[in-house]
Amino acid sequence: MIVVFREDATPEHLERVIERIEVHGLKAHVSRGTTRTIVGYIGDESVLANVGLRAMPGVEDVIPIQRPYKLAARAFVGGGSVVRVGSAEFGGRGIVVIAGPCAVESREILFEIAGHVRERGAGVLRGGAFKPRTSPYAFRGLGQEALELLALARERTGLPVVTEVMSPGQVEAVSAKVDMLQIGARNMQNYDLLEEVGRSGKPVLLKRGLSARIKELLLAAEYILNTGNMRVVLCERGVRTFEPQTRNTLDISAVPVLKRETHLPVIVDPSHAAGRRDIVPDLAAAAIAAGADGVMVEVHPIPDRALSDADQALAFEDFDLMLGRIEAVAEAVGRGASEGSAGAEEIVIEIGRRRARLERAL
Ligand code: PEP
Ligand code: MN
Repeated sequence: MIVVFREDATPEHLERVIERIEVHGLKAHVSRGTTRTIVGYIGDESVLANVGLRAMPGVEDVIPIQRPYKLAARAFVGGGSVVRVGSAEFGGRGIVVIAGPCAVESREILFEIAGHVRERGAGVLRGGAFKPRTSPYAFRGLGQEALELLALARERTGLPVVTEVMSPGQVEAVSAKVDMLQIGARNMQNYDLLEEVGRSGKPVLLKRGLSARIKELLLAAEYILNTGNMRVVLCERGVRTFEPQTRNTLDISAVPVLKRETHLPVIVDPSHAAGRRDIVPDLAAAAIAAGADGVMVEVHPIPDRALSDADQALAFEDFDLMLGRIEAVAEAVGRGASEGSAGAEEIVIEIGRRRARLERAL
C-alpha cells in the first residue's frame, strides 16, 4: 500500500500516519521527492482496511498494491487452472462449446437440440430450468420437469449439462440432476447463493453481472473458491452500456484482462451479449481470438418460436457455420479443439493446503 502525502503536509502529519500504521505491525518505507512524500508499507494491507488513513491530515491518496482477491489471483496457482465437467475441459489447450436452448421447453425440442450439438462436437449441453426473467409474466421455465429432461438428455447423449440455479434453496435439487451449476448475471452478487453453490462441490459457471466490474466478478468467484470449491469457470456475457444496437456490449477486453488476473478458465456468451443472432458468430470468433477458453451459445430448431430469447437463438445451420469459424480461429491461435489438453492438472486443493499456498502467495 502506498500513502501519498499532500504537498503542504507537515512532518507531524507524516509522523502520525507512520505511527498509526506501525501500530498494526507493518513496516514503513519513506521516500521524499522534491515536492511530496510517499510512504510504502509492506505486509498484509487488509489489516488497514478500516483504519481511515485517507481521512488523516496531510494524506492525499492511499493506493492499494495488493489485489483484493487471493484464491482467484493467477499468482495463487502460478498459471491457468483446468476445470473438468464430464469429458469437457475448460482451461486446457482446446476450446469448449456449451450449446443448447435458452430454456428447456419440451422433451422433443431438448432432445433434438442435444442430438445436433452433440454430433457437431459441443462439450456441454445448456438449458434453463429456472429462468430469471425481467418480467414476471414471461416464460419462467419448467422447473423440476426441466431438470428431469436435462438428466435424460445427458443419458441419451453423454453430454454433461449446465443449468442456472437462482436461490440457495434450489442448489441441492439442481445439483442432484446436473453436472455444472450456472450463476446468472442477475445473481452474481447473491453471496448466500455463491457460498451454497461453492459448498455443493459442483463445477460452477459464474456469469458477469450486467454492470459488474471485472474486480467484482473476481470477488464473486472468491466467495465460491473460499468454500474450498476451486471448480469455477468465469463467463463474460456483455455489460449494459448506452448502445442500443445490441442487447449488451460484449466487453472483449475482459477476456485478456481476466486471463492475466486469474487462473480460472474464461468463456464468452455471445448470445446474451448480442441479443441478435446475426452477429453471434462474429462475437464468438472474436472471443476465441481474444483468448477465451470456450463459448456458450443458445440454439433452437425454430429460433423464432423459442419461448425465451428468440431473437438471439441460432438455427442449427447458423450454429454449424459458427463452429466452422471458431474452429478456424482456434486453429490460428494454437487452440485447435482436437489438440486436447496441454497436460495441465485440475486443481483440487484441500482447504489446509490451499491456505498454506495462499499465505505463500501473499
Ligand atoms: C442464461 O444464460 O440463460 C442467462 C439468463 O444469461 P444471463 O444470466 O447472462 O442473462
Ligand atoms: Mn437466454
